[in-house]
Amino acid sequence: MMSEAVAQFPIEKIRKDFPILNQEVYGRSLIYFDNAASTQKPQVVIDAISEYYSDFNSNVHRGVHYLSQKATDAFEASRETIRKHLNAEHVHEVLFTKGTTDSINLVANSLGQGLIKAGDQIIVSHLEHHSNIVPWQMLCQRTGAKLKVIPMNERGELIQEEYQKLLSSKTKLVAVNHISNALGSINPIKEMIAQAHAHGAWFLVDGAQSIPHQKVDVQDLDADFYCFSGHKVFGPTGIGVLYGKEQILEEMPPYQGGGEMIAEVRFDQTTYAGLPHKFEAGTPHIEGGIVLGKAIDYVNQIGLDEIAAYEQELLHYGTSLLKDRFPSFRLIGDAQEKTSVISFLMGDIHPYDMGVILDKLGIAVRTGHHCTQPIMQHFGIPGTMRASFAFYNTKAEIDQMADALERAQNMLS
Ligand code: PMP
Repeated sequence: MMSEAVAQFPIEKIRKDFPILNQEVYGRSLIYFDNAASTQKPQVVIDAISEYYSDFNSNVHRGVHYLSQKATDAFEASRETIRKHLNAEHVHEVLFTKGTTDSINLVANSLGQGLIKAGDQIIVSHLEHHSNIVPWQMLCQRTGAKLKVIPMNERGELIQEEYQKLLSSKTKLVAVNHISNALGSINPIKEMIAQAHAHGAWFLVDGAQSIPHQKVDVQDLDADFYCFSGHKVFGPTGIGVLYGKEQILEEMPPYQGGGEMIAEVRFDQTTYAGLPHKFEAGTPHIEGGIVLGKAIDYVNQIGLDEIAAYEQELLHYGTSLLKDRFPSFRLIGDAQEKTSVISFLMGDIHPYDMGVILDKLGIAVRTGHHCTQPIMQHFGIPGTMRASFAFYNTKAEIDQMADALERAQNMLS
């Protein structure tokens, strides 16, 4: 039975907010199920981009003139919106970056300048996106630290007993995603953070997939670092956030040098600006920063609890439908706690072949390894087809995907 919150979800109104959804591809209504890769933008976000360039485009933080002050105020107001959204204690704990990948590289590069050393250990998990693996591998190569990996079970859940065995006094940092992009598994990060802290280790959460789907409170989680990308939360590309606890950010040396991040530059000695500017060298992505705040306001107007309930309904509906209708359906990843991602295979048909046919039928799914090759290696598969839902998707669209899968299967079998 559908809950009242789901029955009252204003789906018709919401769909009208996203102009891109109202189009045909190859003569069919577009069905966009690639939300884990990137989300579509509501009209308020599109308008805010145009408004910035038509009304107050100017560089921030360094001008006394009207436009510069207006741009600076809007940029800093957005930082405050994000602070509130994450429930960070201080606004200077919110750093603007290019996205999740950039945030993780910032932490890895900064910690690599003396805070992580040979003999230290860094723990990641088998469920990570490449961007939460490779920067740590590179850091280990530079410093002589060792990388350890939390294994997962056949459902795509991290094995918590194995995590506990990996933790020791040598562990300096644990870096794990809140939600897996490839399988949708939701990791119990609050407990994992407490366990890391009991061993004196920092914890970085890759929140790229959680911020669009659920409420996050960095103080309640007690996360040391939490990062996400604007484009996955209905905002622009090229902008993202790194939250870090004040005390750690103060301890960390800057990652890049340049304008904005300095207090005073002399040839004999340069001193650095305070937070957050110490980590924001150069002209930032001003429009992106401003508009990310608008995207977050938009999501909050709908309500993250309402979004989560609606998307859970889509997940359960879609999973049952595909399981019941297709004996060949193989679900990859059925963690007990899951977000709205269905990663799957159909018999021994290559996911790429299936994805190409679905595309011609107007349905955008992602096929491949989803930048998580170790997960695919674990299951011994080349990749999956992934349908990832956002709050503007509908059950009717899932029905159409099932019909398209049947057609594609008949063509390819
Ligand atoms: N981590 C996760 C879990 C992701 O889903 C993604 C994007 N697919 C990233 C990191 C990297 O994000 P970006 O490319 O926006 O930096």
